[in-house]
Amino acid sequence: MSMSRADARTLDAADPLRSCRDRFFLPEGVIYLDGNSLGALPLATVGRSREVVESEWGEELIRSWNSRGWIDLPQRLGAKIAPLIGAKPHEVIVADSTSVNLFKLIVAAAALSPERTVLLSEAGNFHTDLHIASGAAALARLRLDVVPRDEIEARLGPETNLALLTHVHFKGGYRFDMVAVTALAKAAGARVLWDLSHSAGAVPLDLNGSGAELAVGCGYKYLNGGPGAPAFLYVAEHLQERLISPLRGWMGHAAPFAFTDDYVPAPGIARFLAGTPPILGLAALEAGVEAFAGVPIEQLWAKSIKLFDLFAQLVAERCPDLLCISPPEPERRGSHISFSHPHAFEICQALIADGVIGDFRAPDVVRFGLTPLYLGFEDVWEAVERIRDILESGRWRDPTFAVRGKVT
Ligand SMILES: *Cc1c(COP(=O)(O)O)cnc(C)c1O
Repeated sequence: MSMSRADARTLDAADPLRSCRDRFFLPEGVIYLDGNSLGALPLATVGRSREVVESEWGEELIRSWNSRGWIDLPQRLGAKIAPLIGAKPHEVIVADSTSVNLFKLIVAAAALSPERTVLLSEAGNFHTDLHIASGAAALARLRLDVVPRDEIEARLGPETNLALLTHVHFKGGYRFDMVAVTALAKAAGARVLWDLSHSAGAVPLDLNGSGAELAVGCGYKYLNGGPGAPAFLYVAEHLQERLISPLRGWMGHAAPFAFTDDYVPAPGIARFLAGTPPILGLAALEAGVEAFAGVPIEQLWAKSIKLFDLFAQLVAERCPDLLCISPPEPERRGSHISFSHPHAFEICQALIADGVIGDFRAPDVVRFGLTPLYLGFEDVWEAVERIRDILESGRWRDPTFAVRGKVT
């Protein structure tokens, strides 16, 4: 039996996370299904950013490095992200971008087992991961082996130095079994570097329990840190003293303010800092992470599953031209739902014009992020109604929807 708008409202009324949406600024008339690409603005970010700019920077000036704790913010914020990913507080630090953190960890990890010469990754992995991997491999004298997803496990072997894998795929949402792949890699004597960009803040993660040793993740997606927010980096405790970042900046030095000529890595995770921490961006990310306060990730995930199932069911009933490419089983996917259609681009543009913001991923995928902190069941119901209307009316054929911008 199909679900009505009233049924969706009933689900919203019974949703224990319903009040969390009040933590966010959600523009009138917009159904935001792109929080997996750029998280919505937490209301607290506005006040926090203002305070950092006006009071901490404006009034307190340089004294804030000590008096307002700027200097430790990368570690403090890492410790706040740690429970979301199943890590210890001192195993996570916030620095640089995901791309840069990938570079640091690939090169650092490569040096641990120089006799192993292959960097393994997935064809169709997020492109920055593969681009960074190619550059890091060249510098670390590794051969980059990019293979189809279903061949990764079989390729883990005596030559594998490191496998660079994105836990939840940015396009289809397929998820690797972190426990199984980590164990396979370990049995082969190899390591895995997990990119958690589409997992952190959405999918339950237990890095420690999974035996994961290395990971990076994005600050501006589910963590709501704002455009270009700094990223995080995780190194398991037992590896920290053995890894040296190839970006030997002063902030990762054991004594940054001793101004010595020689590089001595800081103890622990701090050695993965390079330059001066971007305080404005870190403060915004801190407010983004605090938007999760009091919400167990398992509860978020339980709601994500329901949002996904509703979305998939309504599309199957009302929009038969859209083919769902995301796995139906929750344990095999992340928190977005993707569909293929030969005119995905135009459909996506027509939807945005209608206030339903999802995104297009080349060549033929339209993707919708399901962010349980601020998305409700009626939002999903209404979004699918508008998709149905656009498909049935053929409005997406309007030539203005075929015009491509720089960012799609
Ligand atoms: C979003 C994303 C990134 C982002 O990298 P930036 O350095 O922030 O541009 C990297 N990898 C994956 C898998 C992503 O989804």
